[in-house]
Amino acid sequence: MNYQSTRDKSISVSAAQAIKTGLSSEGGLFVPESFPSVSLNEIKSLISKSYNERAFFVLSKFLTDFSQEELEKCIDSAYTKEKFGTDSIAPVYKLNDTIYFLELWHGPTCAFKDMALQILPHLLTTSMKKTNEDKEIVILVATSGDTGKAALEGFKDVGGTRIIVFYPDNGVSEIQKLQMVTQEGNNVSVAAVTGNFDDAQNGVKKIFTDDEYKGLLERNQFKLSSANSINWGRLVPQIVYYFSAYAELLKNNEIAAGEKINVVVPTGNFGNILAAYYAKKMGLPIAKFICASNKNNVLTDFIKTGVYNKNRDFHTTISPSMDILISSNLERFLYDLTGRSDTVIREWMNELNTTGSYEISDDVKSKMQEMFCAGYCDDSETMETIKKCAADYDYVMDTHTAVAKAVYDKYVSETGDKTKTVIASTASPFKFNQSVLIALEDHNAVLGKDEFTLLRELAEKSNMQIPKSLFELKDKSVVFDLVCDKDEMKQVVSDFLMVN
Ligand SMILES: *Cc1c(COP(=O)(O)O)cnc(C)c1O
Repeated sequence: MNYQSTRDKSISVSAAQAIKTGLSSEGGLFVPESFPSVSLNEIKSLISKSYNERAFFVLSKFLTDFSQEELEKCIDSAYTKEKFGTDSIAPVYKLNDTIYFLELWHGPTCAFKDMALQILPHLLTTSMKKTNEDKEIVILVATSGDTGKAALEGFKDVGGTRIIVFYPDNGVSEIQKLQMVTQEGNNVSVAAVTGNFDDAQNGVKKIFTDDEYKGLLERNQFKLSSANSINWGRLVPQIVYYFSAYAELLKNNEIAAGEKINVVVPTGNFGNILAAYYAKKMGLPIAKFICASNKNNVLTDFIKTGVYNKNRDFHTTISPSMDILISSNLERFLYDLTGRSDTVIREWMNELNTTGSYEISDDVKSKMQEMFCAGYCDDSETMETIKKCAADYDYVMDTHTAVAKAVYDKYVSETGDKTKTVIASTASPFKFNQSVLIALEDHNAVLGKDEFTLLRELAEKSNMQIPKSLFELKDKSVVFDLVCDKDEMKQVVSDFLMVN
């Protein structure tokens, strides 16, 4: 199966090339030329399979240029009990007769980014080999928190790769910073950048577009690459867990074969919910998609009105991984809904670039609204939802998952829809310990306490175990204390790679 670009469908590349390049040269995103279809019998056959076998089932339909051996090696390197602490990798938690949480945060960094970033390095190095690329890959990441750590864990000690992560000096939580500055591995580097996330992001973009510098790196046998969520190699592993969740529900007799379920996703860049949509396109019985946002509700407005408008205030919230005004993966969704019109997509994305806004046509809008609902909630509703769910069910959610639950609750009270529903649970509550404890108690509960005291108190209140990877941070030494100016980022890269 080949991949085409959303902005020029005459471009056609193999999966290995799509993963290696990340973004198409004219700025479009790679999408499969067609979607494989899966029968109900095949879905039923997943019941008796392990997560890794389910992953093979899905990935082999898309990465057709990978051999069985190559794919199995990628999958088995990524999804292990050692890394995820559970054989089921992405367990489904039953809250009541209609609500099920798909827990995507059992990986090494306690957020759902691990589901893709644990396998991406292996897909990428395999793709390099398959395309006869002999240079060493250098991954550059600018992070506002979750992605940086997940990428570091995914790429650490993966042969043929190096990774450098830049985070804003004053823009990540204490736990997130600790996670990064104590990173182990012989091919990793981390630096703080004076400034905010945009400064770090712009610095990385500048390096990516510096042809002279890239030439210097190439002469030294290095090739720059990125691990961000527009890479097909990050999206395709996310389709797997929706099939896996459905198989789990069947296995536990929670649903009948073929019964349609709803899916609720706390959304930022539109990657996770798009993967669910792709699963439905392949044949997974899904009725409605509920797209949940925090106060940065550009997607809620878009789904309700058909107008995408990023010209609005940016809000910093307690669900920071969803603080986004441009959802890049929406482009793939719209490409599909327009019947694969690269011309229309080019036009809309051009308008977004120049005016910050575009409006989709009525027929595309009605196709979208047949399947998608949207809603948002603010920080205080998020907090209340955490508190209420803990009181009613003894189940403690993180802030992102709580946004999804709050939006779902509103949806049910408006529609009365009783369809069984899977809510994507995207982070461990321990990763956002401060906000979760405030939600469960009040502000005094966290006053003057260090991160490790907060972790212990949350463990007591939630009856959950502190994830080993977070607790162990206490005894780790700081490896990376470099703080650089945004103009010095290139030098940091050169020093790490020892090129001059
Ligand atoms: C990245 C992230 C999201 C948003 O996912 P998208 O695929 O960008 O929509 C939600 N929750 C958490 C915890 C995340 O890290």
